[in-house]
Amino acid sequence: MRKLISSKENTWCIGCGNFGLFAAVRKAIQALHEAGTPMADIVMSAGIGCHGKIFDYLELCGIYGLHGRALATASGIQLANPKLKVIVFGGDGDSLGEGLEHTLFAAKRNIDLTLILHNNGNYGLTTGQTSPLSTPGFRGPTTPMGNVERPFTPITLMMEAGASFVARSYSAKIEHLSQIILQAIKHPGFSFVEVLQPCVSYNNTYQLYNEHCQIMDAIPQEEEEARKLAKSKEPIYLGIYRQESLPVYHKQIKVGGESLTLDQRKALLRSRS
Ligand code: SF4
Repeated sequence: MRKLISSKENTWCIGCGNFGLFAAVRKAIQALHEAGTPMADIVMSAGIGCHGKIFDYLELCGIYGLHGRALATASGIQLANPKLKVIVFGGDGDSLGEGLEHTLFAAKRNIDLTLILHNNGNYGLTTGQTSPLSTPGFRGPTTPMGNVERPFTPITLMMEAGASFVARSYSAKIEHLSQIILQAIKHPGFSFVEVLQPCVSYNNTYQLYNEHCQIMDAIPQEEEEARKLAKSKEPIYLGIYRQESLPVYHKQIKVGGESLTLDQRKALLRSRS
């Protein structure tokens, strides 16, 4: 079994939720590989932040994105070679602050890739500033008197944007998280996984999540029910909120009325240059 760990020194804080997420991702990739997907067909992109260090630690091919631009980079990879399984790592600031427009449009287009959102509720890399997912009252260098904004609910935001697979898990529930990630990667279309990820240095939410997280028995049947469950704080529901078969973006892009293979597209581009 491959460990999928690079030789780079790991500088995440001891106890960081990213370790659990890292273990779950590796487990999911391993399972995907054992089921027949070549390692060379699994690629990644990441943004900037503590989450982005996973790009250095995970032994996988990819392109490191700019801040908030990991999804744009990943979309390019996927559209250039649709047979690839593309995994994107994003932080809550990176994906829902600097990169919000890319996140919304990747979901809207149903681009065939997987976004794993490391939700630690702050900008950990730069010492704990308030992020789009910080809770009201959160104190950090930019909000010393307490955050006055309400956070997005990533699950309902992604459902509204049109994501065809939407799920939530917790970094300390490694088995559950790896199963969710595996299903997300296998899903044809845009898949979104929110990972509740404690930041022990600036937003230690272990106790909160350990006490309140509850795994759902099944996918909610009605949209309204899914939205209600996604916003619940006690308990905080984990699991798949939506799993729908919808037209995938790259299959809908047609040139001259026909879908073209990669080689046909290359030939067409050459003929035009
Ligand atoms: Fe993890 Fe927070 Fe440390 Fe970043 S600052 S490595 S998110 S514990």
